[in-house]
Amino acid sequence: CGICGVVGYQPATPIVFEGLRRLEYRGYDSSGIATVNHGQLSRCRAAGKLDNLKHALEETPLTGTTAIGHTRWATHGAPTTGNAHPHQAGQVAIVHNGIIENFSELKSLLEAKGRFFETETDSEVVAHLLDEHIQQGMPPKEAAFATIRQLRGAYAIAMIFEGHDNLLIGARHGAPLAVGYGNGEMFLGSDSLALAPLSNRITYLEDGDWCVLTREQVEIFDATGNAVNRPVQTTSLST
Ligand code: GLU
Repeated sequence: CGICGVVGYQPATPIVFEGLRRLEYRGYDSSGIATVNHGQLSRCRAAGKLDNLKHALEETPLTGTTAIGHTRWATHGAPTTGNAHPHQAGQVAIVHNGIIENFSELKSLLEAKGRFFETETDSEVVAHLLDEHIQQGMPPKEAAFATIRQLRGAYAIAMIFEGHDNLLIGARHGAPLAVGYGNGEMFLGSDSLALAPLSNRITYLEDGDWCVLTREQVEIFDATGNAVNRPVQTTSLST
């Protein structure tokens, strides 16, 4: 299972798709990609192999220069197209690797607020929590921090937002996530392999870290919300 994301200036879907290819070795049962293009979110998902996603993308091309992608290893909910990530709720789309341990209490809370869930996954609560904060008027960065503070369990998460082509937010706790630095583009990936051809400057987020990426800059924060500096490693894997 894995995550790949980009906020940049080139067509993002092929970049993220190739990143997912390089994460295939981790194993997965379904996959999907979401983009934000001129403010609009779109997504494409498929059960089974990445070739199925490739075919689905040929029928429903996803344009945009910002995208998140996911290979899923189902823990909650069958490995169907409907349960595949990205999950979308209102103005946000998210991908998640790991397990949200308190998902059922969060789900009850959200359902009580009138939220309708369309999957059997634990992950969908993340999309609804995030959108709930957005609907309450929080900017994406604040909404992301408010959301991750509500989560228990293990997660690597990537989030994109309607109306924000130049924004990609990541978070990790107990599951790996790394940032890749480019020129005019920034990347998220589960590991250096996912990022290898994209960037040779990588920061591995520490547990509890979350990051706000734009084309121009990377901001990293710790679990308490303080801005932090993490080492940038130069890799030689890049071709
Ligand atoms: N627990 C999530 C799900 O079942 C994410 C699984 C994963 O790590 O891919 O959808």
